[in-house]
Amino acid sequence: MMLSMSSAQPVQAPSALSRFTIPATVEQVLLVAAVFFALAANRPFLSAALHGHDRAEPATWGFALAVVVLLAAAHFVLMALVASRWTLKPLLALLIVVSAFATYYMARYGIYFDATMVRNVLRTDVGEARELLAPALLPHLLLYAVLPLLLLWRVRVINRPLLRAALVRLGALAIAIVACVAALLTVFQPFASLMRNHREVRYLITPGNVVWALGAVLASETRGAAKPREAIGLDAKPGPLWATRTKPMLLVLVVGETARAANWGLSGYARQTTPQLASLPVINFSDVTSCGTNTEVSLPCMFAPVGRRDYNEGRIRGSEGVLHVLARAGVAVHWRDNQSGCKGVCDGLSNDSVQALNAPGLCSEGRCLDEGLLYGLDRRLQQAKGTQLLVLHQLGNHGPSYFRRYPQQFARFTPACENDDLQFCSREQIVNAYDNALLYTDHVLAQLISQLQAHAGSVDSGLLYVSDHGESLGENRLFLHGMPYAIAPDVQTKVPMVLWASDGFARAAGLDLSCLRQHARDAIAHDHLFHTLLGLLDVRTALYEPRWDFSAACRRDAAGAPR
Ligand SMILES: [Zn+2]
Repeated sequence: MMLSMSSAQPVQAPSALSRFTIPATVEQVLLVAAVFFALAANRPFLSAALHGHDRAEPATWGFALAVVVLLAAAHFVLMALVASRWTLKPLLALLIVVSAFATYYMARYGIYFDATMVRNVLRTDVGEARELLAPALLPHLLLYAVLPLLLLWRVRVINRPLLRAALVRLGALAIAIVACVAALLTVFQPFASLMRNHREVRYLITPGNVVWALGAVLASETRGAAKPREAIGLDAKPGPLWATRTKPMLLVLVVGETARAANWGLSGYARQTTPQLASLPVINFSDVTSCGTNTEVSLPCMFAPVGRRDYNEGRIRGSEGVLHVLARAGVAVHWRDNQSGCKGVCDGLSNDSVQALNAPGLCSEGRCLDEGLLYGLDRRLQQAKGTQLLVLHQLGNHGPSYFRRYPQQFARFTPACENDDLQFCSREQIVNAYDNALLYTDHVLAQLISQLQAHAGSVDSGLLYVSDHGESLGENRLFLHGMPYAIAPDVQTKVPMVLWASDGFARAAGLDLSCLRQHARDAIAHDHLFHTLLGLLDVRTALYEPRWDFSAACRRDAAGAPR
């Protein structure tokens, strides 16, 4: 007995798990996967689709069932077109993992997975990724990725002769297409109006959304990579004011991050989040609209000659921006980054990053506080000559870890959320941390102005600050940003903007600051930036449109006449 057992043991050594296999055909596996995706990965889509339907009505459940069938059948068709015995497992494994991540962020932050969101994900740097990997992601991944992957691993795909396999596949595709059409016909009216009135909900159909968006991004990247950016403003040259300047001129453009106008003290927020700027002679513009709801869109757009007013992503990404035009006219342009790069707008121009400078005491774990942007500024001012534009790209209020954006002495609004995962904080704590980060931006800008002012005797300097987009802080249960522009709430598109100019700068630019102050409530957009920079620095080109230069009405040219 003992003997036979011990001799039997080595033969049985393959574990119970490895003996546990699920024999199935490719079509059976795809069917299970399609139903799994329809039910497990599409809860945000289903709740959007059922919005406004009465849950007590039987018709609502019929509608929901038809939508689930539609989702499952559509995903089945798409997968059945590419899956074979050999590609089945890698394909499904990839889709399972992608869906698990996507559903987590969609449910948590109300995110829509369109091409820009996928671009954001692909360009995320290590620091950003670390902050988004919250502990709560783990149980979600165990349930929606690890468990399905384990099952998939144990599937043994049943082999069929080639001809038979092809016939079965065609039959399965036909049935799925019929199911698709039948489901669509039963709910055509409400479904069509949903898709027409809320086009953005299609970005919730998972994993189809991610695959579609990934395809769109790859297609545009390969097209973009094939040809260099189109040069613009080839006629750019210094204007007549350049000859009248007696001192070097430096304009500092601070591109803010995720600061929203609604929480900006200077624009009337109930809390004073900008105490230092409030005590300085700055002009605060209170009605400024961003071009996009995320950095990937806003950044290239705000430097383009035509942005949101006739938005064309291909044209914007395919062309140079205002920095190249200014450089062409002889402005010394330098980009300093404290975030994830300049998204192409400083390509080929002088640039550096705060991380690389490793500003003492300001950096840890690959992230630096925004004061690092000012590192070496005094030396730059001492050595200034000619006309310069310095662009400082902030980390600003980059979420969700607002509390990591400011040093301890700015933790004035308490209790502040000090968790990378916002779900562990109350709305009040989240807003407190967000506002503290604004206090720190206020400090950085005031610090910058004081350094510029200290050198005002030798350099004519000015500062223009504008944020790239806003942020949702729990309104309508939305967090962070990146909503499709057409349906984005104001908190994501209304941004703060501030101008400061030394007396010398105003004189050299022919700028009447009190006149500009009277225009501080005008509606201004990111579209104005391109033309206003040309105007303030007096660079002439046929691209310049005075009606998009918010300073035009308040400037005089070299001859003393208003422009
Ligand atoms: Zn941004």
